[in-house]
Amino acid sequence: MHSRRAVLTSLTLLLALASSLRAQAPAQTVPFDRANLDTTYGACQDFYEFANGGWLKRAKIPGDYPTYGAFDQLFDQNQELLRTILDSGVVRLKAGQYQTGSGEWKVATFYSTCMDTVAIERLGAAPLKPGFDRIAKINSVDDLKRALGELEKSYGLAPFSEGSAQDAKDAANTIAGLYQGGLSLPNNEYYTKTDTASVSMRSKFTASVSRMFQLLGDSPAKANAEANTVLAVETQFAKVSKTPIQLRDVINNYHGMTLRQADSLTPHFSWEKFYAALGAPIPNKINVGQPEFYAGFDKMLSSVPISDWKTLLRWRLINSAAPSLSTPFVKENFEFNKLFTGATEISPRWKRCVNATDNYLGELLGQEFVARKFSPAAKARAVTIVDNLVRELRARIEQLQWMGPETKQQALVKLDAFNRKIGYPDKWRDYSKLTIVPTGYYANILAGNQWASARDWAKINKPTDRTEWGMTPPTVNAYENPLLNEIVFPAGILQPPFYDPNADDALNYGAMGAVIGHEMSHAFDDQGRQYDKYGNMRDWWSKDDAARYDTEAQKIVKQFDAYTVLDTATHVQGQLTLGENIGDFGGLTVAYAAMQRALAAHPQPVIDGFTPEQRFFLGWAQVWRELDRPEFLRFLVSSNPHPPSKWRVNGPLSNMPEFKAAWACKDGDPMVRPAALQPRIW
Ligand SMILES: [Zn+2]
Repeated sequence: MHSRRAVLTSLTLLLALASSLRAQAPAQTVPFDRANLDTTYGACQDFYEFANGGWLKRAKIPGDYPTYGAFDQLFDQNQELLRTILDSGVVRLKAGQYQTGSGEWKVATFYSTCMDTVAIERLGAAPLKPGFDRIAKINSVDDLKRALGELEKSYGLAPFSEGSAQDAKDAANTIAGLYQGGLSLPNNEYYTKTDTASVSMRSKFTASVSRMFQLLGDSPAKANAEANTVLAVETQFAKVSKTPIQLRDVINNYHGMTLRQADSLTPHFSWEKFYAALGAPIPNKINVGQPEFYAGFDKMLSSVPISDWKTLLRWRLINSAAPSLSTPFVKENFEFNKLFTGATEISPRWKRCVNATDNYLGELLGQEFVARKFSPAAKARAVTIVDNLVRELRARIEQLQWMGPETKQQALVKLDAFNRKIGYPDKWRDYSKLTIVPTGYYANILAGNQWASARDWAKINKPTDRTEWGMTPPTVNAYENPLLNEIVFPAGILQPPFYDPNADDALNYGAMGAVIGHEMSHAFDDQGRQYDKYGNMRDWWSKDDAARYDTEAQKIVKQFDAYTVLDTATHVQGQLTLGENIGDFGGLTVAYAAMQRALAAHPQPVIDGFTPEQRFFLGWAQVWRELDRPEFLRFLVSSNPHPPSKWRVNGPLSNMPEFKAAWACKDGDPMVRPAALQPRIW
């Protein structure tokens, strides 16, 4: 979502209060509501509208949301619970019931400094003064190089992405990673496209940058010039950057090298000095993901005037800090984000503060969330469902017609080695070295960022830690990480409507079962299949099997290329969304088979007028009910590997003979693609 949005795969670098409180009674849920249907649509004509049309007509997108659907409704519920936890924490904090510096104290203190708008408004942008002063002192290229290290350490301002990275060719070890960066807009195409919409987007961007500089006290004329400088320098970065589709090619984005080799890519920039300035270990090995970007960066060190670099760094500082400052900065930051969200109002303060606390202290706050919302019984149930799905995928791989025995054997070895992380970490993150202060919200944000960076850098040159989680427990999402050969399901998503203890098996298999299947399928999608059971990038496929796989995958690329959103010119990008689409198609196929096995043991009657086979597909469709703002849809298809929700339903289902049979559709119906065009993977 915008990574919150969807069941996703995480491939990029981006990488105990409990017992004393009463458990809440489980919420009463209605697993399926016929009022959500719109039967004026035929199931075989447009299943997304058939299953969700009633809801789509009734629902409204809240002003602060770019998009609204089942994920967001559950997110809202989780957020309300986190608010309750935090509010009672603040009461106890104020009553002096927490030991200063303890985990509970840090959580409640962080949240209360975020809610202290009086202090935040009084400070304005004053907390940034040391950063602006440091930037102002840059007078030469040598100064600039030194400052980039210091400003990255303190504020994360380097115009590229750096951090620890698991070595994709030696997954047992963690090295340093350097990736392209430096852009404020979502990807490089926003800077280079010449169509009217892109030109207009850039002028809205510079208008926002200018207003931000004016808030810092610059005259309108000066601020306009500065905004043009920011756009010009970022455009130079964009020209040496890869597109989102090019970034999906895992082989072409791996360039493991020594520090000396990295230095030779950037003859005017010393990586040893940079890492020393961070206080990070000097890396034995670095993956420079996009060497062309770094060669471009090296040239820009001298070709871009120092005054322009200083303008860029001032922008990067205010742009990253704005959401944590006083109202004028928050508002301008909202105006900028609006270009991609279309939201009409800022989220209430408490929501932003709940999110920030989850973001910075998620595995402290998450402990209480788990205690209230994810019982040991719920975890046991989730473990069983995941095990069932893994078994089912195993059975399907064994029976595949198109895959040869050697590849099959390797695929099963990888599947058997899946690490499953369910609900919450076995070992909670240690926050003891993070210092939170009782006054000063921005100070806490800065401390949180610096603590997280230092923690990340400490992993360089060390064996890989396979226990870490990339999402916090309340998150309504899930992921597969091919480098760790793991599938991960936070407690936040193991709730209705994804998994509902009150629902019938068919509905649960169509929703949570297919979500689990989706993540498992990522391990074998066009990216995931290039990693082995240890997470090493290694080709374990026979040539023939790989070629057959690619032929089937290309059918999915073509299928999704043809889908449009908003108008006939705005297409879904088949190659960008391929991994997700293989995930949905594979996940649904495997979950359907698992449901049939469950039904053989425990037959299910017709419920609400639908057979279990039909309810399976209704279960999937209803988790994807969603209203989207046009700005968000344009952003999604331009940048995000997840397709719009309508096509996550109609796309894979129209490839499934199981769907055709369940709804008695006929050849030629819109929900039945011609057999020759249907992919056959799992
Ligand atoms: Zn995914």
